[in-house]
Amino acid sequence: MKSIRNAALGGFAGMSVLFALAAAPSVQGTGFIVLRNLAVQYSGMLALSCMSAACLLALRPRGPEGWLGGLDRMYRLHRWLGIGALGFGLLHWAAAKAPGIAIALGWLAPRGPHAPRLLPENFWPRLLAEMRHPAESLGEWVFYVLVVMIGLALLRWFPYHVFLRSHRLMAAAQLALTAHALVLVEPSLWLSPFGGVLALLMAGGCWAALKALLGRIGARRRVRATLAEVRAFPESRCLEVVLDMPPGGWAGHEAGQFAFVTFEPEEGAHPFTIASAWTGEMHQLRFMIKELGDATRGLQARLRRGQTVLVEGPYGRFVFADSRPHQIWIGAGVGITPFLARLEQLAATPAIRNIDLFHATGDADEAFLDRLRTLALAAGVRLHVRRAGQEPRLTGADIRGLVPAWPEASAWFCGPASFGAALRRDFSAMGMPVDERFHQELFALR
Ligand SMILES: Cc1cc2nc3c(=O)[nH]c(=O)nc-3n(C[C@H](O)[C@H](O)[C@H](O)COP(=O)(O)OP(=O)(O)OC[C@H]3O[C@@H](n4cnc5c(N)ncnc54)[C@H](O)[C@@H]3O)c2cc1C
Repeated sequence: MKSIRNAALGGFAGMSVLFALAAAPSVQGTGFIVLRNLAVQYSGMLALSCMSAACLLALRPRGPEGWLGGLDRMYRLHRWLGIGALGFGLLHWAAAKAPGIAIALGWLAPRGPHAPRLLPENFWPRLLAEMRHPAESLGEWVFYVLVVMIGLALLRWFPYHVFLRSHRLMAAAQLALTAHALVLVEPSLWLSPFGGVLALLMAGGCWAALKALLGRIGARRRVRATLAEVRAFPESRCLEVVLDMPPGGWAGHEAGQFAFVTFEPEEGAHPFTIASAWTGEMHQLRFMIKELGDATRGLQARLRRGQTVLVEGPYGRFVFADSRPHQIWIGAGVGITPFLARLEQLAATPAIRNIDLFHATGDADEAFLDRLRTLALAAGVRLHVRRAGQEPRLTGADIRGLVPAWPEASAWFCGPASFGAALRRDFSAMGMPVDERFHQELFALR
């Protein structure tokens, strides 16, 4: 999380400094209107910068995954940029309305009747002057829509599929707000470094928005697979789905990565961890899918062997890459999936390893547990299964008791966010430098 905090704060500080350098030469005086105009420009441009950066991240670019810590974290940053856009948008709206409010409250004297404004004679300045009022109205109405949209995006109880569909409106909002800014940004600012960065961000944001509106996000990374096999684990309400990948279609993945999978075009893509290793020999991907909501419930009955399935990816940096002498893995519930892929990979490359895998599960399926035991044995990984309901809940103290070498180890957690956060706090309190050593797949993109 440190990486996304640094990216957000660094971006904010950088844009603020560049704005101050660009705006300072043209500021004359310190009166209310001067400060208000500065606030309007600053907040408006930072709101648009946040929107544009959020749109760019929505393209799921692979490049920044390394330094931001994976796509799950990039979506977290996307969310914070949305909150930033809302905050700066509110400031922008308040600053734009401030003179009217101050006059209504009697804090500011109204301007007397003034002579009609003369429009410039040259084509572009004249066009900009004529567009001013429509651009202001457009910006105001889009802002009201944005407040509702971002508010709904932040309400976790709002159904995910409705949120996802309505979220496309954000792309249209990006285009409208860019038009608003092109008319209203102080022309002199475009010639400064701040203007250059803003122009690049706006152009990138619009490109991303157009791709989102045309449904082209991730299109070049989409592979048409064929559903080969479906197997149910009824006790754990899980499905195992095996897909045949076309030769040369899938470039491979690292154990622990995930993909967006579309079983039903009308439902759209859902993220699932790839539960198999890619050896390059078997052109297959395996997924373990738990019934957790509308799309996953009853999925087995709707799937047909031989049907086409779209797979986009791979994404994520939960790939077990570190140099610690010991690793502790914790897979809670269906959060066991990244470890399945890694076990498979390690089983194919025999060596002595120091790995302890803890699987905490509430609804274990015996057939699945048997397979897990076999795989762990083949991979040389010590397996500890903890069944909720039959045994006490797994705690940090239990893990440390069973793994005396924990001070030298790194921890890799996948499962419910609150369980991960509790374990992280616990290990941190016991002295583990968790920022470097506690890795967690977020398992949520909103
Ligand atoms: C990186 C990652 C890896 C995952 N790996 C697995 C896995 O291996 N096995 C597994 O069973 N589950 C996995 N999940 C969770 C899985 O994506 C959701 O359970 C599934 O999308 C639920 O869809 P639903 O419509 O049935 O449920 P809903 O009730 O509609 O949604 C439940 C929750 O699932 C998430 N979700 C729903 N739809 C989407 C979507 N289109 N895109 C992103 N998130 C969505 C939201 O957080 C939502 O609140 C993973 C999630 C992420 C983010």
